[in-house]
Amino acid sequence: MVNRRPLIAGNWKMNFDHLRAVAFVQKIAWTLKDAKFAPTEVEVSVFPPFTDIRSVQTLIESDSLGFAFGAQDLSPFDDGAHTGDISGEFLAKLNCRYVIIGHSERRQNHHEDDELITAKTKAALRHGLVPVICVGETSDDLDKFGASAVPVGQLRAVLAEIPADSEIVVAYEPVWAIGSGQAATPAQAQDVCAALRSVIAESLTPETADATRILYGGSVKSGNIATFMREKDVDGALVGGASLDAEEFAKIVQFPRHVIA
Ligand code: PEP
Repeated sequence: MVNRRPLIAGNWKMNFDHLRAVAFVQKIAWTLKDAKFAPTEVEVSVFPPFTDIRSVQTLIESDSLGFAFGAQDLSPFDDGAHTGDISGEFLAKLNCRYVIIGHSERRQNHHEDDELITAKTKAALRHGLVPVICVGETSDDLDKFGASAVPVGQLRAVLAEIPADSEIVVAYEPVWAIGSGQAATPAQAQDVCAALRSVIAESLTPETADATRILYGGSVKSGNIATFMREKDVDGALVGGASLDAEEFAKIVQFPRHVIA
């Protein structure tokens, strides 16, 4: 059994320009420092808009803050005539460690399907980025098929086309829980995360499944994070709204102080 380092990932979506981004990362760092919490036990990553990444990189690296950072999307292509797209190569040059792929807002608002999400995942891996592959069911899916069928199908489609030893992160985000204030129950999250881990074992290898971090996302806040982190197959959280409040995000990061075994 591999010891998976928990990952708390803040998806800022389309919030904060590069000036506010710098002030915000500084505030998280100061808050954690004041609380005497070093981000070693827990990996902390922020996902700013593209235009902020260079500023966030400079701050994190120059002040050795110990945070990871990544982008919220990337192009399936490496270069060329793709106006408005951002290549994985550019993100790798900025030392991004992660890139979010297939967030439900992109699936819905930009009509991203499993084929495109697979192509983006392959592009991320080509450039040494760790894809954070988002999967999740809508409330209609939940009524019709139950909780795990749709996320399992979405993940299976991507895994069919990537190498067996790929380093990936999977984020289970029920669409009905995103931004709604109505999180899944820890038991619901555990059931789906366990099903997703089985898919990784079947489609890639049991070793990769054991090493892969599976996050829960959907209305996570400081008041409920510990309950998710007690579950055996939940290895962290993808946090939207609550990642835009530095004190709240810093409290989420400090969940080990609140987890009761
Ligand atoms: C998200 O958009 O990835 C998300 C989990 O949002 P929220 O935490 O606001 O539900």
